[in-house]
Amino acid sequence: MAASFVDKARITIRAGSGGNGAVAFHREKYVAAGGPDGGDGGRGGSVVFSVDDNLSTLMDFRYKRKYVAPDGMPGQGKRCNGRDGDTLVIKVPRGTIIRDTESGAIMHDMSTGEDWVAARGGRGGWGNIHFATPTRQVPRFAKPGLPGESHDITLELKLLADVGLIGFPNVGKSTLLSVVSKAHPKIANYHFTTLFPNLGVVYVDEGVSFVMADIPGIIEGASEGAGLGHDFLRHIDRCRLLVHLVDVSGSEGRDPVSDLDTINSELREYSPELAERRQIVVANKCDLLEEGSDKLSRLRARAEELGCPFFEMSAATHAGTHELIGECAKLLRDLPPIQSYEADYVPPEPKVESAGDLTIEKDDDMWLVEGPWLQRLVATVNFSDYESRMFFDRILRESGVFARMEEMGVKDGDTVCMYDLMFEYKE
Ligand code: GDP
Ligand code: MG
Repeated sequence: MAASFVDKARITIRAGSGGNGAVAFHREKYVAAGGPDGGDGGRGGSVVFSVDDNLSTLMDFRYKRKYVAPDGMPGQGKRCNGRDGDTLVIKVPRGTIIRDTESGAIMHDMSTGEDWVAARGGRGGWGNIHFATPTRQVPRFAKPGLPGESHDITLELKLLADVGLIGFPNVGKSTLLSVVSKAHPKIANYHFTTLFPNLGVVYVDEGVSFVMADIPGIIEGASEGAGLGHDFLRHIDRCRLLVHLVDVSGSEGRDPVSDLDTINSELREYSPELAERRQIVVANKCDLLEEGSDKLSRLRARAEELGCPFFEMSAATHAGTHELIGECAKLLRDLPPIQSYEADYVPPEPKVESAGDLTIEKDDDMWLVEGPWLQRLVATVNFSDYESRMFFDRILRESGVFARMEEMGVKDGDTVCMYDLMFEYKE
């Protein structure tokens, strides 16, 4: 059995390109030389992430690695604009962190229910209808659509739950969750049954509920990456409260106190902060306790030493589950909210390249400037922002494009077209 569930995935996303603008002329019987009527290209589809609370793993991303939104359609004659490409919606479990694969920086934390646009579709190019002026009535050009953004990203799931159940396999975590919530985790009497994290909503009282997560069992050596270790630990990272279940019956020949200590030292190994997280210790399977056994009292003493609240329980008979839930609700009232991650990704500045690889065409007083790096630059600059416009201006000057145009005879007041930008030339 593959002992891991998928909670990390690398994928590539690409938004659609904008459709090209059309070059077309109005044609009607008996009307000579109709004016330009080529419509604009449609916008490319964007790639958007959306939270789906029915998902609890990144399994869907194991086989499908490339996500491409459709392109915008080209414009057509008769002033028809091309259709926009549809948005591509990618569903992820709540708590998915989206990182830039190359730098590892966080782009977004999918913790709130809000959708997030990860790659914007390219703008459609203008049809020739935009280029008619009193002196230029037959514009034979239109503009190409801009490319959509694309990105290599890494998805990482850090489940969002108030309470995380921890403990060795088979101690009764899944059983507890099924008893206190409507979740239906797999329950079986062998190790590694829980390969998928399960989330359940626990209703405590009117208007009071919390989310409890049953996560694949921790095993010894987990913090060094053995078995399910790291996958598991990543998920409890964000739990506000840990409920540590111990099989107090020692039904598998184990010692409850050393089980408790082993898991706590695994936690510490992984993250000292996690080891400090508020923890309730629960002696489960009390129904199986043999008469005269000192296991329960020894476990209680150890929990007290650690300063943890201690509960006796039998998930099988439901004895003690109600009290445990009540204590969780009480502690949660005062614990800090679930941690969310701030984005720290800074998009790289577009590279300044030389004007040598740009094509410059001249049509009357209209200048068309094109080239791959310019296309990328125009697509990324936000022209409603002053700083961004200044940046754009600087890059253009540094590239030497204006110097080349001057050599070719550009005059004050000529129109310069760079993809969907059009501006007046000023010396
Ligand atoms: P998990 O691996 O921690 O999720 O453990 P499970 O919930 O899958 O339980 C493992 C086995 O222990 C199952 O056969 C359960 O029926 C059994 N079990 C769980 N809790 C109790 C309990 O309180 N008493 C008894 N007798 N058996 C229990
Ligand atoms: Mg389980």
